[in-house]
Amino acid sequence: GQRYTAVVLGAGGVGKSALVMRYGKNIFLEQYDPTIEEEYDLSVEFGGKRSILHVIDTAGIEQFTGINESYIQRGIGFVLVFSLTQEATLKDVDHIRQEIYRIKDGDEAWTKMDLRGEREISSDRMHELAVKWGVPFYETSAKKGWYVSEVFEDALARMRKK
Ligand code: GDP
Ligand code: MG
Repeated sequence: GQRYTAVVLGAGGVGKSALVMRYGKNIFLEQYDPTIEEEYDLSVEFGGKRSILHVIDTAGIEQFTGINESYIQRGIGFVLVFSLTQEATLKDVDHIRQEIYRIKDGDEAWTKMDLRGEREISSDRMHELAVKWGVPFYETSAKKGWYVSEVFEDALARMRKK
């Protein structure tokens, strides 16, 4: 099948690697080196078609730098990740989103929905932002495996339509 590149972006520690590993390998790691940047070719059967989803799990995205710019140029689709338990990480997503939207489209994922008691960002707030930004969103948990494949399958479906 055809190959599509999706770049996973977001602040350090929000759960990018956990999300990618849950999707690609169906495992959850409590600890994963935050500096590791990894790329995976995943064979995905979705919507009656097989495609290669090339996922880039980025590392060290604290600020918008030239490195991010080259990631954005490489990506066809984007999964922007922030943590429901750290409101500050939403700002990073907004920043990255604005950079991406100068040229491309994005898909969004919000992680750690299993941590209900520690939640800092409400569903209502997310719905408002999703409408305002014009993006699809998913509340996910890499730990529990909730709504993880939906994120990547929706990203793939959108990339196929481009
Ligand atoms: P990254 O720096 O964005 O790649 O973040 P990681 O994937 O390395 O995750 C950072 C920490 O958050 C790790 O300790 C993970 O185990 C934890 N984590 C990631 N996703 C979830 C989740 O959905 N639920 C919970 N409870 N913890 C998570
Ligand atoms: Mg990581």
